[in-house]
Amino acid sequence: MTRFLLDRMLGQTTKWLRLLGVDAEYAPTDIDDDELMKISSEEGRILVTRDKELAQTENAYLAPKKDAVEVVKLLLEEFEIELNPMTRCTLCNSPVERVLKEDVLEDIPEGVREQQDEFWRCVSCEHIYWRGSHWDNILETLQELMPEDKLPKA
Ligand SMILES: [Zn+2]
Repeated sequence: MTRFLLDRMLGQTTKWLRLLGVDAEYAPTDIDDDELMKISSEEGRILVTRDKELAQTENAYLAPKKDAVEVVKLLLEEFEIELNPMTRCTLCNSPVERVLKEDVLEDIPEGVREQQDEFWRCVSCEHIYWRGSHWDNILETLQELMPEDKLPKA
């Protein structure tokens, strides 16, 4: 399975990849090119960067200066990627798991409590997800990126 390491400036691309369930790490803030390449080779990740020199190295990909969704489209064309939307935390790249509403009641705002029944929690940072008011926008973009039969059910 293709895994990625995204260089600085590609934070939004990282988020979209994670939303699609793709294993995408984001470069730590204070890291130099050598360390970045080391992580990419040790963890077997394709390094996605806007740095032309860095992109010359093995297992690196030069991301054009396009918007995040366009870059994701290019990556989907270029690499073999399995899509599992809503399975990964957009904040920390760890898996999320379905949780029962009653188990997260304390941790969600009241308005959400009334309107939502399905919840997911990150196994690592414990961030809780639901399909809130932004979900329609997210789904619209996911529709652009992936085949209909792979889309999460509304
Ligand atoms: Zn997380």
